[in-house]
Amino acid sequence: MPPYVSLDLFRFLLLEAHNIQDLFEHPRFAHLDESAVDLVLQAAKDWSDVELYPYFRVMDEQPAHWHAGRVRTHEQVGRVLRGAGENGWIGARDDFDLGGMQMPEMLYTAVHGIFEAANNSAQGYLGLTGGAARLITTFGSPELIETYVPKMYAGQWQGTMALTEAQAGSSLTDITTSAQPTTEGFYHLKGHKIFISGGDHGGADNFVHLTLARIEGAPPGVKGISLFVIPRMRPDANNELVFNDVQTAGDFQKMGQRGYSTTHLVFGENDDCHGWLLGQPHQGLAYMFQMMNEARIGVGHSAAAVALAAYLAANQYAHERPQGRLPGNRDPLAAPVPIIRHADVQRMLLTQQVIIEGSLSLAALCCRLSDMEHAAIDNAQKKDHWLLLEILTPIVKTYSTEQGIRAVSLGLQVLGGYGFTMDFPLQQYYRDIRIMAIYEGTTGIQSLDLLGRKVLAENGRAFQLLLAEMQKTAEKADADPELQPFAQELRQECRRLAEVTQQLVGFAQAGKVERFTADATVYMEMTGLIVIAWQWLHLALAAQQHRAEGRFSPDFYAQVLRCLRFYFRYELPHAEANARTLTQGEPVYV
Ligand SMILES: Cc1cc2nc3c(=O)[nH]c(=O)nc-3n(C[C@H](O)[C@H](O)[C@H](O)COP(=O)(O)OP(=O)(O)OC[C@H]3O[C@@H](n4cnc5c(N)ncnc54)[C@H](O)[C@@H]3O)c2cc1C
Repeated sequence: MPPYVSLDLFRFLLLEAHNIQDLFEHPRFAHLDESAVDLVLQAAKDWSDVELYPYFRVMDEQPAHWHAGRVRTHEQVGRVLRGAGENGWIGARDDFDLGGMQMPEMLYTAVHGIFEAANNSAQGYLGLTGGAARLITTFGSPELIETYVPKMYAGQWQGTMALTEAQAGSSLTDITTSAQPTTEGFYHLKGHKIFISGGDHGGADNFVHLTLARIEGAPPGVKGISLFVIPRMRPDANNELVFNDVQTAGDFQKMGQRGYSTTHLVFGENDDCHGWLLGQPHQGLAYMFQMMNEARIGVGHSAAAVALAAYLAANQYAHERPQGRLPGNRDPLAAPVPIIRHADVQRMLLTQQVIIEGSLSLAALCCRLSDMEHAAIDNAQKKDHWLLLEILTPIVKTYSTEQGIRAVSLGLQVLGGYGFTMDFPLQQYYRDIRIMAIYEGTTGIQSLDLLGRKVLAENGRAFQLLLAEMQKTAEKADADPELQPFAQELRQECRRLAEVTQQLVGFAQAGKVERFTADATVYMEMTGLIVIAWQWLHLALAAQQHRAEGRFSPDFYAQVLRCLRFYFRYELPHAEANARTLTQGEPVYV
C-alpha cells in the first residue's frame, strides 16, 4: 500500500513553522516538550498503521447500512472507538481532571489529521465524540459531565451533533424539534433529525446526541434555539440503561465516506424521549458554535489530510509508472521514462503539494490561535487572537475543502485511466473528500459568513488584523533577498484585497445588501488565494531560518522554496482575475 502520511511534514509545521514550543512555557502545557511532540505523532502513526489504514478500503466496500431498526457498520468501528479511548486520543485536549491530556489543539489536530489520512470514515466517529464531550465539559452541569463524559472519552459511548432537519440545513433558524419542560429536571423531546453522522452503529454501547431544539414558547429565530443532551439509552433511578425513545429510521447511502454512518433519527415517537438542557435556555446555537468552529477548522484540516494521502499515492505511482519519452527524444527504441519526468505530471504534483501544505499550515495557525485564546496566553492580545481566528475559520474550511477536491482530482489524473478504476485508492479519496465542502456549512454559507459577517465585524477590525499579520510576514521576508520579491507581491495582493473589500463594503453601506454578498464565493476564492500565499511566505521564512540546523534534509527545505515559487507563479495570479470579476460591472444574477 502507498504511504498515506508524512510525519516530517507535521513536524516541520508544528516545530519549525508554527513554533508549538512557545505554548509549553505556559502552565497548561508545561508537561510537554519537543520530544513529546515527536513521540505523540509517532504513536498516532503507529496506531493508524494497525487499526485504521488497513481498514480504509474494506469499510468503503462494506458500507454502513440500516437493517431492522439499527445501523450496521464494519466491526472495526467498535475496535477503533475503544482503542482510541484507551489511548486517550478522544479526550486528549481536555483538562487532566476531566480525563484529558491537556494536549494543545495544534497537536490534537495533527494527530487526528494522521488518523484522517489513514481512514477518514473511521476518524469521523472519534472526532465527533471528542467534540460532543467537550461541549458537555464546557457548558454542562457536574451531573451531566459525570454521567456522559468518562464513557465518551473511553470510546464506549458515541457522541454526535444533531442539528439538521429536512427543512433546515443551511438555515438552522427553521428547526422545529421541540422540547417540553417537565418538573423533573428533564425535557420531553420530539422531532426528526437527518444526516446525523455516527448517529447509530454497532460499535458503541450508547449514543449521546447534542441536539438543537426549541423549548415550547421560545422566541422565533436563532434566539429561541436551545441545546440538549439526548442519549439513546438513559440511566434510570437504579443507574440501569433504558431505551430513551430515539429511533433510527434510516441510514443515507452516500457516494463517499461510506464507512461513516449518516442517520435519520426520530426523537419521541412514543412521547418518551428525555433530554437535558445544556447550559442556559435559548443559547443553543451560540454553544454549538464552539463545536462547529472547531469542526470547521477540523474539516479543513481533514480535507488537507485526505488530499495528502491521495498526493502521496499519486507521487509514488508517478515514480513507478513508465510511459512515453521526453520531448526531443525521437528514438522509438529508447526506454520509456517514469511519468514523474514529464513536466505536466510535475505540475499536477506541485499543485497538489502547494494546496495541501498551504492548507495544513493555515489550519496549524488557526489551532495555535485557539490554544492561545483558550489557555489565556497573552491576555492583552486575547481579543485579537479571537478576531483573527474568527475571520480565518471560514477561509480554512473553504480553501482546504474546495482546493482539496481539486488536488485529489489532480492526483487521480496522475494515474491516468488507472486512477478511475477501483484497483487504486484515488477514486475513494475523490469520493470521500467531496462531502467536505458541503457539511459544517457549505462553501456558499462560509463565503457569506466571511464577507457578510467577519469582514464587517467590529468595524472591520478582524479584516484589518488579517492584513496587518500578512504585512508583518512580508516585512520579515524583506530582509532575505531570495524572499523579498515574494514579499513585494504579497503586499501588492493585500492592497488589491483591501481595495476590492472597500468597494464591496460600499454596497452594504448603501443598503444594497443583496449586491454586497452576491459574489461572496468569488471573494472567498480571492481571499483564500492570498491567505495561502501568506502561508507559503511564512513557510519559506521558516525553512530559511531552520535549514542550517538540519532537522530535515537539505532537499526538504529546498522543496519548500520550490513550492513558494510555484505557488506565486501558478496559483496566486488567479486572485487578480477574481478581483476583476468582483469589481468590474454587475453580477449577472442580481
Ligand atoms: C454525509 C453527511 C454528513 C452530515 N453530518 C451531519 C451531522 O453530523 N449533523 C448535522 O446536524 N448535519 C449533518 N449533515 C448535514 C449538513 O450539514 C447539511 O447537508 C448542510 O449544512 C447543507 O444543508 P442542506 O443539505 O439542507 O442543503 P441546503 O441548505 O438546502 O443548501 C443547498 C444549496 O443552497 C445553497 N444555499 C442555501 N442557503 C443559502 C443562502 N442563504 N445563500 C446562498 N446559498 C444558499 C447552499 O450553499 C447549497 O449549495 C451532514 C450531511 C451529509 C451529507
